[in-house]
Amino acid sequence: MAITVKNPIVEMDGDEMTRIMWQMIKEKLILPHLAVDIKYFDLGMKHRDETDDRITVEAAEAIKQYGVGVKCATITPNAARVKEYGLKKQWASPNATIRSLLDGTVFRKPIIVKNVPPAVRSWKRPIIIGRHAYGDIYKNSEIVVGGPGKAEIIFTPAGGGAKQTVLIHEFKGPGVIMGMHNTERSIRSFAKSCIQYAMVEKTDIWFGAKDTISRQYHGLFRDVFADEAMKAKDDFDQAGIQYRFMLIDDAVAQVIKSEGGMLWACMNYDGDVMSDMVASGFGSLGLMTSVLVSPDGKYEYEAAHGTVMRHYYEHLKGKPTSTNSVASIFAWTGAIARRGELDGTPDVVAFAKKLESSVIRTIESGLMTKDLAAIAEPRPGKHALTGEFIDAVAKQFS
Ligand code: NAP
Ligand code: MG
Repeated sequence: MAITVKNPIVEMDGDEMTRIMWQMIKEKLILPHLAVDIKYFDLGMKHRDETDDRITVEAAEAIKQYGVGVKCATITPNAARVKEYGLKKQWASPNATIRSLLDGTVFRKPIIVKNVPPAVRSWKRPIIIGRHAYGDIYKNSEIVVGGPGKAEIIFTPAGGGAKQTVLIHEFKGPGVIMGMHNTERSIRSFAKSCIQYAMVEKTDIWFGAKDTISRQYHGLFRDVFADEAMKAKDDFDQAGIQYRFMLIDDAVAQVIKSEGGMLWACMNYDGDVMSDMVASGFGSLGLMTSVLVSPDGKYEYEAAHGTVMRHYYEHLKGKPTSTNSVASIFAWTGAIARRGELDGTPDVVAFAKKLESSVIRTIESGLMTKDLAAIAEPRPGKHALTGEFIDAVAKQFS
């Protein structure tokens, strides 16, 4: 008997190898067990082009309406893709479009399996990275200075009033300057999304910055974050979780020595760098999940990896592939569990948890795709093909 899901889930289909796995996951692992009203949006490259990318905006609006979405990886077109698909134009990244419409923050969380040990021995629980993906050096202005001269920053208030001018440097010779910004609104949304996520996942929040050196810029991040954490203090106490601010270098040192199990909230550049470090520290991109959380509690789940283009071209040539579907399966289970929590339907949550443990037990029994087989201990004698792995999970589940 199928389990009934009370409210809809927004599904966004995608591209290439992940689109192929997506179909198998739905058919073999989800639809046989759940009676769910799926609001389907095809974000495949061709359909985005046909709709002048309106489909992406519609999908984002649907996530706002229903609260929970699950997304397959999609192509972010570059010049080569425009040619390959004969696109009308180089459409924006769907992830960037959805993120900006939801004003959300992306959290990346590794899936832990016993036979794929992390590079850092002490890590036992996931280290979740939340990256503030707005501003700083990613929206900067730079000048290469050719010779002696004076560099200043000037702020001109919109309503008139005195300009503020600060000297950056008196150049005696060639050099370089950079101007960057952030907004209080964006920092506050970031802090709120982190708090939302930490409450749901029941995990402590660590936030690191360099406020001893950058007393105003990093100082504002520290103060806004502390303010939002203060407002949530009672909820934190109830959930038994803590907020910790530390210097970023201290945070890095503590993370390496820790067992994991925290949400590490990062400023934009720190998040860019540290998410790659943590991802490779935990093993494979195929084990990294990702969720976009808006400050008002809307959730969109996906795998952190892309469409695995190289495998797709092998597949098109008729060759067997061994592509890891685990992060895509966990995107589904993440969305289903969240839906169940929001709807107050524990049987739906239990289904998601059971499917997750079936995936983990399959890998721990020694059956896994090539990417994991290369780093597992002990090494399995052979690896599973894309479809074989999903079939094995289905069998483990039943
Ligand atoms: P990718 O799809 O993440 O794959 C890069 C390589 O990582 C693969 O060739 C494969 O290595 C390995 N890999 C990644 N995921 C894997 C999995 N599930 N199982 C096994 N191996 C896996 O990145 P890409 O090839 O650079 O990008 C392809 C397309 O994805 C691009 O058009 C890009 O725009 C898009 N993209 C989308 C998202 C998203 O929608 N969230 C994110 C990133 C990229 P081997 O070839 O060595 O086996
Ligand atoms: Mg990076």
